Parts: sequence; structure tokens; C-alpha cells
Amino acid sequence: MRAMSEFDLHCHSSISDGTLPPAEVVRRAAANGVRVLALTDHDEVAGLAEARATAAEVGITLIAGVEISVSWRSHQVHIVGLGLDPEEPILLARLKAMRDGRYGRAERMAAELARLGIPGALEGAGRHAGGSIIGRTHFARFLVEQGIAKDVKSVFDHYLATGKPGYVPHQWASLADALSWIRGAGGIAVIAHPFRYKLSSNERSNLYKEFKALGGEGIEVAYGSASAQEQRDAASAARRHGFLASCGSDFHSPGESMIDLGRIAPLPEDLTPVWSKFREM
Ligand code: AMP
Ligand code: MN
Ligand code: MN
Ligand code: MN
Repeated sequence: MRAMSEFDLHCHSSISDGTLPPAEVVRRAAANGVRVLALTDHDEVAGLAEARATAAEVGITLIAGVEISVSWRSHQVHIVGLGLDPEEPILLARLKAMRDGRYGRAERMAAELARLGIPGALEGAGRHAGGSIIGRTHFARFLVEQGIAKDVKSVFDHYLATGKPGYVPHQWASLADALSWIRGAGGIAVIAHPFRYKLSSNERSNLYKEFKALGGEGIEVAYGSASAQEQRDAASAARRHGFLASCGSDFHSPGESMIDLGRIAPLPEDLTPVWSKFREM
């Protein structure tokens, strides 16, 4: 039997780079046995109202979330905010500015791809983005559609991952900004998928310490892309730094994601789950 959790605190809808509308994400989660779901679109909270309405319909709990893109040293790091007020004005204004910044980056990405002999990427990716935020996943889907690569993952491997020819550097929010926006909106900040970042162990421990010093409280221990060893290492980090433990599928799409909603390993029992704080909020 596949691992299963009633809590899935990280996933995406078509509001960012998922393919299903928020209502469909919630229905699919409920059908998979999830009881508490956080929708955490990239740099955007506009899907939460629809998600909340559908959650009420199907009888599950919806936690308001977001996944904020951060530049930390030379790395792109993701910080998830959970249980926040999705109408808090400063959070909304800052996320809007981040989404605006994505358009300039998309233009630069399209220019790089054109230089590599792939024209029309801005329009093509824009079509996949459908007017909400635009990001690398939308470019990847356009390249797959053009027959340039067989799937989204291989587009990243050959064109869009850090250091690949279609990659363009971008300045995201600072770690301090992301923490202050999340905390200012009453949310809990969580380090997303800690082993997706190519950090030395020294850098990793510095990231955890800085995050903690800025008021960060949680870390994802069980998540879609983590190996069993990485989940053990994330659990050790949670113990060492006193972090709450979170878990999430990071589901994006039925066709693309390896892990479906709710298909997450259980958290080690000695850790304090992040949802122990939800009731107090
Ligand atoms: P962006 O925020 O535009 O930089 O895009 C980041 C998103 O790209 C992530 O949230 C993932 O959905 C996706 N992504 C990043 N790396 C990969 C990869 N190696 N394979 C597939 N998708 C990826
Ligand atoms: Mn994504
Ligand atoms: Mn992420
Ligand atoms: Mn994510």
C-alpha cells in the first residue's frame, strides 16, 4: 500500500503552475482521503476563496497557504506560509510585486530560448499560464508541446534548471521579507522541500539558523520529492533546530507529478507536527 497522510500541506493549482483549478485540487484531495489541505500556490493567494468554498462542500478543512520564492545567497529557496490571512494588505501588495517581476523574467527567458532557436516562448508559456503567474513550468509545458522535449522534467534538465542555457537569474524576495510577510499575516513559516536545494551541509545549517532567527518555525520532513534518507535527515534537522514538522505532496498535475495528493509518508512520532498549532490560530 502507498503511504498516505490525512494532512497535505503543500500543493498547487492552475492559479500558479498546477494544471487543475483550485476546486478540482480540493475534490481530488478529498477523494484521496485528505482531511486537512493547504493550497500553497507560488507567490499568489487568489485560489484560496474557491478552494475554501469547495472544501466546505466536500467536508474537509482548507488551510490558507502560499509558497514564496526567495533568493538566499546564490540559491532559490521556497518558504511556505500556512494558516495566514489571505486578505492581509501588505502580503497581498508584496506578492503582487513578485508576480509583476515574473513578467520581466519571462521576457528574458523567452529571449534566451529564441537565441537557442526556440521562438514564440513568451506567447506559448503565457498561454499555459492563462493570465495568472508565469513561471518556468509554463515554459516547460510549451517546449513539450512543441516536441522539443519529451516531458517537463527533461525540459528542466536540458534548458531551465540553474546553469542550463535557457536559465536566467532572478532576484526573488529576501528570506527576511518572506518571513515578515507570512508572520505579518498571522501565518507559520515552513522551509519547503529542504533537500531540493544544492547546499553544502554548512550552508544548509546556516539556512536553518537564519530562518529560525527570523521567526521561522517549521520544516517539511515528508514531501513528494524526498527520498527515505532525505526524510530522515529532515527529521534530524527538525529535532536539532526545534522545528515543527510539516508534510506535503507538492502536487502540481495528475500527468506530471510523481506523487498524488495525500500520498505522503507519515511523520516520525516524536516530532511535533505543524498542525498542532492550527487550533491555536
Ligand atoms: P519558478 O518559480 O518559475 O522558478 O519555477 C519553479 C517551479 O518549477 C517549481 O515550483 C517546480 O514546479 C518546477 N521545477 C523546478 N525544477 C524542476 C525540475 N527539475 N523538474 C520539474 N519541475 C521543476
Ligand atoms: Mn511549482
Ligand atoms: Mn517549491
Ligand atoms: Mn511547491
